[in-house]
Amino acid sequence: MELGRLMVLGTGGTIAGVAAVAGDNVGYAAAQVGVQALLAQATAGGEVGTREVRAEQVAQIDSKDMDFAVWRTLALRCQHHLDDPQVGAVVVTHGTDTLEETAWFLHCVLKADKPVVLTCAMRPATALAPDGPQNLRDAMVVACAAGLRGVWVVCAGEVHGAQQVQKVHPYRPNAFSSGESGPLGWVEEKTLRWAQNEAPAQARSTLVAIKDVAQCASWPRVEITMSYAGASAATVEALVASSVEGLVVAATGNGTVHRALQGALRQAQAQGVAVRLATRCPLGQTIAHPEGDGFDFPCMPGLSPVKARISLMLELAAAQAPG
Ligand code: ASP
Repeated sequence: MELGRLMVLGTGGTIAGVAAVAGDNVGYAAAQVGVQALLAQATAGGEVGTREVRAEQVAQIDSKDMDFAVWRTLALRCQHHLDDPQVGAVVVTHGTDTLEETAWFLHCVLKADKPVVLTCAMRPATALAPDGPQNLRDAMVVACAAGLRGVWVVCAGEVHGAQQVQKVHPYRPNAFSSGESGPLGWVEEKTLRWAQNEAPAQARSTLVAIKDVAQCASWPRVEITMSYAGASAATVEALVASSVEGLVVAATGNGTVHRALQGALRQAQAQGVAVRLATRCPLGQTIAHPEGDGFDFPCMPGLSPVKARISLMLELAAAQAPG
């Protein structure tokens, strides 16, 4: 079978970072090296597969500064290539800081009947032992896996799904985790090994069609507020006063909210602000009571607060979209 072209889209990040001193793994500038050069570095150890590979620079940013304009451009370029019958798969190089958010955003908006694999690095390209070239090679291996579709994340030899994956460490090269479920698979010497012997299906949850992403010049404003010991109503009140449209509460434990916040959140809801709960616990997910869910506000189980924010933003955008 003829394998379609592999598109590698660059967006910046530490994988494209440059330090003045080779041993410096923290004092570097992210997003300096072009994606074509990253690809050359990654394939210096030999071609990964038999596919034709092309690179395209979509953005060049430190992913801590990710915004909707870049997301929109990236989503549209991904869909453009996915829709091209000549293209078999897309790889995206990205910073680690917001990689899990981009993965979830793309998961929610792309019609991805082919694989889209995000990868990154924790060490700049100039490091004594850069992890980027191997990560990019591994991502290309996953992208070439037969029959794969949907959005994936590859880092430090591990394969993760868009919903579970989270950056859990600020420094070590294996900075990502899928929590209780662990990685879905591993890449070992150009071979993909699934934890369950076959590619797991990722539930499709398209919230906004890609054509609506193209039309969307600005997104509903959704912010995250956290419930913690000593919380007060002040942040919520300030956000409502500044015309926030949605609020995700990073709630304690099983979706519980400090009583000092509850009144302000109810008030916000009464004024038309969409309020949702997501637990701030890194593992597990909120459990509804069998008789009535028992939560103060609608809950978004299985999503971290940052991913719940993306889902709520898309939900509001879909509701506002004409037609
Ligand atoms: N600040 C960098 C970024 O997210 C960190 C990294 O890529 O590791 O772009």
